[in-house]
Amino acid sequence: MTNHAYIILGPPGSGKGTQAQEISKLLNLSHISTGDIFRSIVGQDSPFGQEVAQILKSGQLVSDDITNQLVANRLAEPDAVNGFVLDGYPRNINQAKYLNTLRPELTAIYFKLSDEAVVQRLSGRRTCPTCNRIYHIKYSPPKVEGVCDDDGSHLIQRTDDTEGIIRTRLQTYHQQTELILEFYQHLGKLIELDGTPPIPEVTAKLRVTLGI
Ligand SMILES: [Zn+2]
Repeated sequence: MTNHAYIILGPPGSGKGTQAQEISKLLNLSHISTGDIFRSIVGQDSPFGQEVAQILKSGQLVSDDITNQLVANRLAEPDAVNGFVLDGYPRNINQAKYLNTLRPELTAIYFKLSDEAVVQRLSGRRTCPTCNRIYHIKYSPPKVEGVCDDDGSHLIQRTDDTEGIIRTRLQTYHQQTELILEFYQHLGKLIELDGTPPIPEVTAKLRVTLGI
């Protein structure tokens, strides 16, 4: 067992995916996301893979039991035995409690960002419908307003990135995440970082905190 087992928490737009990649690179750990786990099982020609494929196709959420089992299987693979960075799991308190029975040594890293900052970051996103490149009207604007640099397509705002939808997602996010944060706080396993500064600054702080 090692201390290099981490879960990454934070609202959408907090940069947690990028930070998860940074930590895994710096410590040479496997970066495990539930998205990748689901894609991999669906790609397997097994009854279980077909069952998960059906659930995803119907647009339903995969149950805690199935998700827990998939994560347990993945964490038992050789590349994860000595540590990992887990991204997208646990999503609720039941999953957090289950994970703690599997890997009680892990540390939770939480990238905190205010709702206003989340809304500002996500609602400024514009997507190219042709090549899927993502721009931001403030932080990474295209050379010509509203037009993709690569192929000249007119950029769109995805429905997911509109303010009303973002605020609804944030409500669900807070309901589920606050319990997870309390859980790790009580265990003394929570590291909290301000996700407001630019990503490289947050990475630098994180490195100091983790001593890497
Ligand atoms: Zn494009």
